Amino acid sequence: MQRPPIKHCKNCGHAVVYRLPDDGDTKERAVCPVCNTVHYENPLTVVGTIPAWGDKVLLCKRNIEPRFGKWTLPAGFMELNETVAEGAARETTEEAGAQFEMGEFFSLVNIARVGQVHLFYRAQLLSDQFDPGFETQEARLFTEDEVPWDEIAFRTVGETLKRYFADRSKGQFGIHVFDIT
Ligand code: ZN
Repeated sequence: MQRPPIKHCKNCGHAVVYRLPDDGDTKERAVCPVCNTVHYENPLTVVGTIPAWGDKVLLCKRNIEPRFGKWTLPAGFMELNETVAEGAARETTEEAGAQFEMGEFFSLVNIARVGQVHLFYRAQLLSDQFDPGFETQEARLFTEDEVPWDEIAFRTVGETLKRYFADRSKGQFGIHVFDIT
């Protein structure tokens, strides 16, 4: 999903134009021709967890677009005034209603084409009972063999899960940094 271009000035509401700002900036920006406000667009951060229960992981069946009905790790856009780990924990609570303890950082995935960075932490479930919010149709535990690999909502999630199960079988978890192109 490419982000749509900015149409109107956040300051005065006038239609913006995409051009080089006057300050020597080398990238075209949405500039307001009336009040000269320059609107900078920067990547969005998606934060989530890999919640584990024995040899199983928790996946959520999406109840919202995009990828309605597909399975994902609990994750979502980071909010202002929270740390990455706080955001990942918040999403896990909101989407799965899970009880858990946060674990170590696990993966950083660049998706430069859509201007996003996805960050996942491991988490240890304290219960196998879930109370998913409205964004989730169903929250369920899967072993590696049970994971619906063809029904995973996002490549960042599928690639993170593959690395998680590979580390798990080695008995040692690393930190994974990779790009999706
Ligand atoms: Zn303006």
